[in-house]
Amino acid sequence: MVEINNLVKRYGSKFAVDDISFSVGDGEIVGFLGPNGAGKSTTMNVLTGYLSATSGSVLVDGIDISQNPTKAKKLIGYLPEQPPLYIDMTVLEYLNFVFDLKGCQENKKLHIEEICNVTKIADVKKRLIRNLSKGYKQRVGIASALVGNPKFIILDEPTVGLDPKQIIEIRNLIRNLGKKHTVILSTHILSEVQAICDRIVVINGGKIVADGKTADINGEINQCSRYRVKVAGPSKLVCALIRNLVGVTYCEVYGEREGDAFTYTVESTPNIDIRKNLFRALADKGWPMLGMEPVGMELEDVFMRLINSTNENIKAKGGRK
Ligand code: ADP
Repeated sequence: MVEINNLVKRYGSKFAVDDISFSVGDGEIVGFLGPNGAGKSTTMNVLTGYLSATSGSVLVDGIDISQNPTKAKKLIGYLPEQPPLYIDMTVLEYLNFVFDLKGCQENKKLHIEEICNVTKIADVKKRLIRNLSKGYKQRVGIASALVGNPKFIILDEPTVGLDPKQIIEIRNLIRNLGKKHTVILSTHILSEVQAICDRIVVINGGKIVADGKTADINGEINQCSRYRVKVAGPSKLVCALIRNLVGVTYCEVYGEREGDAFTYTVESTPNIDIRKNLFRALADKGWPMLGMEPVGMELEDVFMRLINSTNENIKAKGGRK
């Protein structure tokens, strides 16, 4: 188990992390989600012993990382946002080097072979790291985190800068790692944690604003259906008409005007499908619907909902700067 207790990290007068507490149980895959500047990397760096905390503690299986860093770090495999790869080494040379650096006791050849297979880099193991694609470099970074078979794997923004195919591959790899390891990953992408994690801890402005099971947080998010609707017609009257339809909870102009058409964001309760009524109502008025598409919630919306939520699983706190 990893326990973070009242962790504070201050840079001068700025609180990058402001009194956060949460724990991660064995076997969990936990997503640490927040916008840029929220405090994710700082937390990850303290969690892995790369930075010292201003106050508070991090216990890794009961071992305080500031008191006994060598012992605690042996339990952790860390992939920082910028993996520290030696690009003039081949993949094998690099993993052998990391093995020696960590002072691992396993059978070196077998252990590294197994890691290459798990991370699917066996076919490039003799190539120089500098010549690998970003996706493969990321796999090598994850492979180095796995050297020594640590119980906890901590990944900082593991899919940043990857193309969509590489993102899917790395997400699958992380899901597989979760079968044998406890995984904590940070990301600013909501769909990433939804795709991979059992639990989501949301941080914003250095504070935890939500901590709950992914399914519960998805429930919060899916409490409404949301569409972007493009309609040719007078915007005030169109809005008023849409707001009056049964099931509609929200309607505002979203996009810029295009000729006599505006794009609207329309939200409705999930048990009522408003689409047919919306189409008929607009047609009756002679305001043609030029387009309609369902849209997901954006991170900011999710934050607002989570912060405003009275759900007992969700703690909302004020900010300090
Ligand atoms: P995230 O990883 O969520 O993007 P960070 O942990 O990198 O956020 O940063 C949190 C806040 O702390 C940001 O406002 C950032 O500007 C600030 N910060 C991070 N590192 C430093 C530093 N070395 N010195 C001063 N401020 C920093």
